[in-house]
Amino acid sequence: MLTQIINGHILTPQGWIKDGSVFVRNGKIMEITNCNLAVIGAKIFDAKGMYIVPGFVSMHIHGGDGHDFTEATEDAFKAIVDAHLKHGSTSIFPTLSSTTIDNIRKAGAVCEEMMRTHGNIVQGLHVEGPYLNRKMAGAQWGEFLKDPDPAEYIPLLESVSCIKRWDISPELPGGLDFGRFVTSKGIKAAITHTEAEYEDIRKAFAAGFTHAAHFYNAMPGFHKRREYKYEGTVESVYLTDGMSVEVVADGVHLPPTILKLVYKLKGPDQTCLVTDALKYSAFDGQIDDPRYVIEDGVCKLVENMTLAGSLSSADRLVQTMVGKVGIPLEDAVRMAAETPARISGIADRKGTLEKGKDADIVILDSSIRLRCVFSCGEIVEGTNTMNH
Ligand SMILES: [Zn+2]
Repeated sequence: MLTQIINGHILTPQGWIKDGSVFVRNGKIMEITNCNLAVIGAKIFDAKGMYIVPGFVSMHIHGGDGHDFTEATEDAFKAIVDAHLKHGSTSIFPTLSSTTIDNIRKAGAVCEEMMRTHGNIVQGLHVEGPYLNRKMAGAQWGEFLKDPDPAEYIPLLESVSCIKRWDISPELPGGLDFGRFVTSKGIKAAITHTEAEYEDIRKAFAAGFTHAAHFYNAMPGFHKRREYKYEGTVESVYLTDGMSVEVVADGVHLPPTILKLVYKLKGPDQTCLVTDALKYSAFDGQIDDPRYVIEDGVCKLVENMTLAGSLSSADRLVQTMVGKVGIPLEDAVRMAAETPARISGIADRKGTLEKGKDADIVILDSSIRLRCVFSCGEIVEGTNTMNH
């Protein structure tokens, strides 16, 4: 079956193609042309002049639709993945916040099963914690936090094969050994919930930590100790060429000015947009967890009113970057799709609209509202509304 999406403003790695077509067969992009003419025998989908962009890659996402990945059940995984898929996340790395090693193992088994059944969408597990600096814990559950322990993470990684990324505070005792070990297994190591200063970051980078999770959040910037000034983690990451970052671009976790600064200094090749979404993202129901409260469009912990994570979805990140920060749509999409795909090691199949890649496609209208989502060529949102 050949599908042809016509009349689109198509974003390719070489730039925009106006009034072109995307041809899809067997879930893959077969061809992208600058011709609008419908091919006889193809199933035609009319994009009506809207933007055709690659599906988004969600590399830091805890939950949605009332569920959290730490529930470690297939029902929870499916509900979250389906909810965010409808918002354009065609590739998802489920993120576990700090939990027990046993629960990471349990979630790993569910994730591996999901990769067999939903392998086009679920790309591998992302673990955040529990090896975190207590002083920077933020909304991570304190009872799980500890120093890196090779007696538990080595056997875990021998039995769970789906972990693709693991974030810790590198300044903890054993943090650098952890970085060297996980990267030797092909797992991406990232810094998070940290108060590392320049020397710590330099050593962390050398030990394999090449990415900073939710940049600016749960890490200090430039500060004073008594009358003397010190660089924070933020400046240290800026100074480390080759260290990529991700920003929670919901427009609340960071103001538009700071999002613009990250865009200017790190650039779209080294910056990913992430939701860091919690269970109440992509959700219509009532909040039933007494630990959380919704205020100013984000989820906060009742206990200390720290930001607990966003209610955002991938489409909203792109809207924020274009509408509130004022950057070009192509760069916002790159940071939501191409860059996270490259950093996460799935760029051979995902992240751009190119011949041979999976037909993961999002259609946005002129107000950057999501109108349609294709996952491997199948419409999963915006059903048939634009069909001929
Ligand atoms: Zn997180």
